[in-house]
Order: sequence, then structure tokens, then C-alpha cells
Amino acid sequence: MIVAEQKKMDEILRSIRGYRSVAVVACGTCVAVSMSGGEKEALKIASIIRHRAKLDGLDTRVTVTSAIRQCDMEFLDELDDAPGMVDSDCVLSLGCGAGVQFMVEKYPYKVVVPGLNTTFLGVNRAPGYWTEMCQGCGNCVLERTGGICPVSRCCKSHFNGPCGGSSGGKCEIDPDIGCAWQMIYDRLKRIGQEDRLLDINEARDWRTSRDGGPRGHIRADIVVAEDTQRE
Ligand code: SF4
Ligand code: SF4
Repeated sequence: MIVAEQKKMDEILRSIRGYRSVAVVACGTCVAVSMSGGEKEALKIASIIRHRAKLDGLDTRVTVTSAIRQCDMEFLDELDDAPGMVDSDCVLSLGCGAGVQFMVEKYPYKVVVPGLNTTFLGVNRAPGYWTEMCQGCGNCVLERTGGICPVSRCCKSHFNGPCGGSSGGKCEIDPDIGCAWQMIYDRLKRIGQEDRLLDINEARDWRTSRDGGPRGHIRADIVVAEDTQRE
């Protein structure tokens, strides 16, 4: 899932200052699960904005609505009929960075501001605890590394073994996290594939990752040609 955390309330209040009608829009998928941008959080943020407005003697209108996913136009279209959306002059999106930007495309004449900091692709290990597992590099190598990602879980994204700085199985950059290459070694050994450590992974072509610019993905068997125009 995409993990995000709520921006500090001071920052949110600063970004909506001066607008007379603010629509707080929750997102019901990843950020709801990571307890940062779901309906519950949207209601709480809206109530703080109203309270602040009252203290400042302002007549700010604050509405709360939610999209199942802000990264899907099908669900954004449903917002047109939501109370407060049409009249709002500012949308506070509680979607991830993709959701905020899709909201900008949906409402080109409205101000849209983010309520969250989008942090990483990860897993929920325990209530209130998420960790990063993937950087969406576009060329997955998990079959070679025992299912443990060297891109996202090694602090230096090393592809051919450890950097030499790990100690006691922990990373030299952050001793609170396990050395990815120690984990890869342990895992390959456990599944009888430690020979894989002798394979040399060639220099990667990072164009499949962010280094090649913004990426797109088209499923020719599903897409309708006129829908493939990208911003
Ligand atoms: S190798 Fe790339 S795609 Fe696979 S888990 Fe790591 S970052 Fe994600
Ligand atoms: S100690 Fe391990 S995880 Fe940390 S940077 Fe070196 S190889 Fe990567």
C-alpha cells in the first residue's frame, strides 16, 4: 500500500488560509488504511479548521467528503455531486501525491492543496507500524534475492552483496534496521539458494525507475485508444 502521514496542522492551516469555502476530501483506500487520509482523519481535520476559523472570527465554510480512490477518475467524478464541492474555492486533498494531482486535473480551476506527506510503498506490520518494501523500480529482482528487495531495503541500494559496513546483522546507516544483504543471505540459505550470491548482477538500467522520467503503463487489451492521452 501507499503509506502517508498527515502534515502538521499548522502547515495545513497555512495552506488553506484566506479561502472562504474549503472541501476536505478523504481517500478511502491506502491512506485510510495507513490512518492518515481516511474519513475519520478528514472529520478531525475539518473540525480543527472550523475551530481555528471561529477563533479568528472567520466565516469559513468547511465540508467533508470522500472518494473511494482519488487516483481513479471514475471515483473523482462522483465528487461533483458531493455537498460543498461545487462551491468550494479550495480543496484540501487527503489523498497521496497521485490523488492530489489527479484532483488538480479533475478541478482545473480550483485550488487544491495536500493534507498529507506521501512517504513510501510498504506494509502494515502491526497497528500503527508501517515499513517500506518497494520503490517501484520497474524491473523487479526479487526472484534473485530471496524475495527481499535490495533497492528499497538496503540503504545504499546495493545489488551485489553488502557494503561491508553492517554489524551484528544491522545496517551501518541505521542500526535500528536489519542489513538487507544479511537478510538476503539468511533467506537464500534457508531456501537452499545461497549459490545465487555468486551471480553478478550487471549494472542496472535505471530508466525503468524514476530516472527515466514519469512512467506510464498501457494495457493494450483493455485500453480505449482515445483514453491514452497523458498530461
Ligand atoms: S526490486 Fe524493484 S519492483 Fe521489486 S520490490 Fe524492489 S523496488 Fe520493488
Ligand atoms: S549495511 Fe547492509 S543495508 Fe546497510 S547499506 Fe550496507 S549493505 Fe545496505
